[in-house]
Amino acid sequence: MYNYKEQLEKYEKIEKVGEGTYGVVYKCKIKGTNDYVALKKIRLENEDEGIPSTSIREISILKQLRHPNIVYLMDLIHADKKLYLIFEFMEHDLKKFLDMNNSPLPPELVKNYLYQILIAINFCHSKRILHRDLKPQNLLIDKNGIIKLADFGLARSFGIPIKTLTHEILTLWYRAPEILLGQKEYSTPVDIWSIGLIFYEMAHKRPLFSGDCEIDQIFKIFQMFGTPNENTWKGVTKLPEFKLTFPRFKGKGLNAYNKNIDPVGLDLLNKMIQIDPCKRISAKQALQHPYFDDLKKYFQC
Ligand code: ADP
Ligand code: MG
Repeated sequence: MYNYKEQLEKYEKIEKVGEGTYGVVYKCKIKGTNDYVALKKIRLENEDEGIPSTSIREISILKQLRHPNIVYLMDLIHADKKLYLIFEFMEHDLKKFLDMNNSPLPPELVKNYLYQILIAINFCHSKRILHRDLKPQNLLIDKNGIIKLADFGLARSFGIPIKTLTHEILTLWYRAPEILLGQKEYSTPVDIWSIGLIFYEMAHKRPLFSGDCEIDQIFKIFQMFGTPNENTWKGVTKLPEFKLTFPRFKGKGLNAYNKNIDPVGLDLLNKMIQIDPCKRISAKQALQHPYFDDLKKYFQC
């Protein structure tokens, strides 16, 4: 018989390493070895109802999502009303790493990380899996220069809540304009948008759009691109949250915000953060961009 307590006893808690949207993450040691794992205990708002079986099914799919740039889900322990996910352990998340450094990341590292992130998301998108919540806290790095996508699938399984369990407001900074404007059927471009903003943030050590609420976030985006209209983004005025009364910003353009990204990189960034999702570059195309020409010889893909 499946005994979850026995499964959990294999791990010895060392310290809490994170607390995010869905639960608490602990660094744990596998007893009797020198190996570490990250144990994520999922808590849900309506815990009394238990974990929906659809969520369990979807998370189980992640066990099959094996890629060197995706944090490996080693095991899933399902207790009555709780769910524990066991992941390979990583040194830091990208947010902590950016905070630890006094200056922006060196350009070669920015390029290298961006390339790895795009390889991972291209792999996911080719399997029709979206991440939906890419942000520096959900990217994990190790000492060997590897970066991996984490916190996968929960957004899809449980939806993206507005507040964390500890009632912190979740960051909207990486959320694509089509989601902010209420589009229901969004797709792979939402991840590209987030990655574009992560690219900018790695190079400047500050986020490009740091809105403090949904409308502030939308207006910050419009201030850069200009308020969209039917000519610049077909269908935008039909989106549920679009208001004809929105202020008509002219748009300062990306150049006005950039200091540290070279012209070739800036061309790629521009293509990743097109405000109209239909015009945004795909992960596959982005990997072919000349910005990466000098990197390709190190990667085989
Ligand atoms: P949530 O869904 O609650 O946001 P995450 O999976 O993003 O959970 O984890 C929250 C935080 O815990 C991360 O931002 C990171 O700092 C840390 N963390 C998560 N997974 C790992 C891991 N495998 N190794 C090391 N730290 C991790
Ligand atoms: Mg997270």
